[in-house]
Amino acid sequence: MSTITAISTPAAVGGISVIRVSGDEALKVAARVFRPAGGVPVSEMKGYTCAYGRVVSLDGETLDDGVLTVFRAPKSYTGEDVAEISCHGGIFVTRRILREIISAGAEPASAGEFTKRAFLNGKLSLTQAEAVADIISSEGEAALKSANLMREGALFKDVSAVSDKLVGILGSLAAWTDYPDEDIPETSPGEILSVLEDCRARLQKIIENHDSGIVFREGIPCAIVGRPNVGKSTLMNALLGFERSIVTPSAGTTRDVVEERLRLGDVILRISDTAGIRDAEDTVERLGVDLAKRAIERSTLCFAVFDGSEPLTDEDETVLAETSERRRIIVINKADLPQKINKEYFSDEYILEVSAKERLGLEKIRAAVYDLFGLARFDAAPAVFANERQKLCCDRALSAVGAAISAVRASETLDAVTVCIDAAAGALLELSGQKVTEAVVDDVFSRFCVGK
Ligand code: GDP
Repeated sequence: MSTITAISTPAAVGGISVIRVSGDEALKVAARVFRPAGGVPVSEMKGYTCAYGRVVSLDGETLDDGVLTVFRAPKSYTGEDVAEISCHGGIFVTRRILREIISAGAEPASAGEFTKRAFLNGKLSLTQAEAVADIISSEGEAALKSANLMREGALFKDVSAVSDKLVGILGSLAAWTDYPDEDIPETSPGEILSVLEDCRARLQKIIENHDSGIVFREGIPCAIVGRPNVGKSTLMNALLGFERSIVTPSAGTTRDVVEERLRLGDVILRISDTAGIRDAEDTVERLGVDLAKRAIERSTLCFAVFDGSEPLTDEDETVLAETSERRRIIVINKADLPQKINKEYFSDEYILEVSAKERLGLEKIRAAVYDLFGLARFDAAPAVFANERQKLCCDRALSAVGAAISAVRASETLDAVTVCIDAAAGALLELSGQKVTEAVVDDVFSRFCVGK
């Protein structure tokens, strides 16, 4: 395979930058741009050793001093010969050295190419490789933990356990039908059924856990709604202060969406349309019901805020009606004032009385969010999918197992049962990358950043 190179550290100023070169010619390329200070030439350096020296241009001009680390195939990240040059972290210097390495014979790596090679050389499974992409982009500790576990193969093991069972039934069905003379005991429909039901339960658990994992990784799109003056902006500010979160306004996909991120424990709330909430001026004008409606449509969680010191108004009832189809938390604010709100009007499971201004009762909000999304039960140890591709494979496997169960129950032919089990096993093998088409592999690795 060709020899590739890229800057593996972030494109920012830092103490040190690392430029990675991988491929058959990696050490030859490195020898052209690196002069070790000691006596050992690059070509004779052993794996897992490093040398201090000068980074030079092809003309012999010194560009920087740095350290060269050598990894010999197959004991490297990619499984190929790898040379890593650690130089001083300026963006200009690093890019200059990269250009020199390219002139010396390496090709620029495309996004994810190092990890793709690691996969192709059997260093990582596809799910582990996807987890690497995930680690690069994960926010929050729980997300990082589940991403790390995936790299260690937690998902791979869970999925393999199910696919092994399915392949096992396929094997015994095939043995029995293909070798009728061999006296192989017939697998009874009851046995097949019990294995299939076990597989179904395992797949359901994997999928359920995935949904919590997604919440941790991507955050929960939220809307804070309520009529003007109930205390939405005060609540938001109080939560930000309470959780000591960092607020990073980021432009959304549509021009008019502004999203702010608020960290609640390990989970991130992505609150949209906060432009209309946080700015205390002309609240009445901005918080027309229309604006709130759009925020509600985009969210999976709504905080419906009411003023506890006043009786419910028609506008409050509109807010209740508009959010009734969503997962919601009723927040009765201004608990520090004498209460006049008609509490009997609410029948939700989560009704929290707080004072945003006095910062009372805010911890109940975090507990309610965790509860509502089953996050307290979330265990990062089992499998969490890295992306939609894996989830879809698992969904396909689950429905195929369901079809196989129905086929056995309806006493359909062994062929019909086999087709369903075959489809289920195929989907799982595709998930773990044991049977992957080139297209799937390319799709997975195209989502990496260059240098990984
Ligand atoms: P918004 O229009 O819903 O965003 O409401 P604001 O957050 O701007 O609050 C409206 C008014 O209610 C302000 O004067 C706040 O100081 C006040 N307020 C907000 N929360 C509380 C609370 O918990 N207790 C009391 N007494 N006043 C509050």
